[in-house]
Amino acid sequence: MKHLPKKRFGQNFLIDQAIIQSLVNAIDPKPDDLMVEIGPGLGALTQPLLKHLNHLHVVEIDRDIIDWMQDFYPKGRITIHASDVLKFDFSKLGSKIRVAGNLPYNISSPILFHLLEQLAHITDMHFMLQKEVVERMVAKPSTPEYGRLSVMLQYRLHMEYLLTVPPEAFDPPPKVESAFVRCVPHAQLPFKAADEALFGRVVLAAFSQRRKTIRNTLKSFLNDDDFAEIKIGSQLRAENLSVEDYVAITNYLNHRISA
Ligand code: SAM
Repeated sequence: MKHLPKKRFGQNFLIDQAIIQSLVNAIDPKPDDLMVEIGPGLGALTQPLLKHLNHLHVVEIDRDIIDWMQDFYPKGRITIHASDVLKFDFSKLGSKIRVAGNLPYNISSPILFHLLEQLAHITDMHFMLQKEVVERMVAKPSTPEYGRLSVMLQYRLHMEYLLTVPPEAFDPPPKVESAFVRCVPHAQLPFKAADEALFGRVVLAAFSQRRKTIRNTLKSFLNDDDFAEIKIGSQLRAENLSVEDYVAITNYLNHRISA
């Protein structure tokens, strides 16, 4: 169909067939998978995915694309959810959901945080994102890329950087390089926060001023005696602490609150 890409919906359509094939190979769809594609657009991934799947759910916001899809795809093979993915309740589709998509980059972090709330229903996720975002997702402590996104996602997910994708693979080409990432929820959390809302608040406070020490950014939570007790140096900065450290702080605080 004739379609002018809409910037406000982050529409950069994949056009490189070799890359599309590598993405589908990485996703490895099986006929009976309960798969949801976020942002199917003009079908660059949808159509090759459908070759392997009996059925596919898609979540799309663009009315023009939704109207086109309704005529284009054979009835029964695809369920079109005309919705903003940030408001979409994945759990209503069932459990063991596989999620995939070339995401709209302008809202990629909100989408990731939205999916974090629905992980109980999700088996795995494969996403195309800005390369810089994927680097932040998989970053190790004490690196410039390591931040709140790394901690919050690594707490719940095992992630693999799969492939770097150049701007020319898209039409129109985005201004930045892209990368494809696999995210699999931990079967069992390696480090479990007793209070996950508190964990989120501690991580947020620590990274609120990256350059400052945690003695400073976490002063509303911990004093010098607390740091000594947890055995985490108060002169460290947020980026020096591992997921395990943030969980240790949270559980120390949680224990103190309940005592
Ligand atoms: N999958 C297609 C491809 O690879 O060529 C399109 C990818 S394009 C980067 C992002 C897609 O997400 C577009 O189809 C866009 O309309 C859709 N989209 C943007 N914002 C959305 C939202 N909030 N909810 C659902 N879909 C959205």
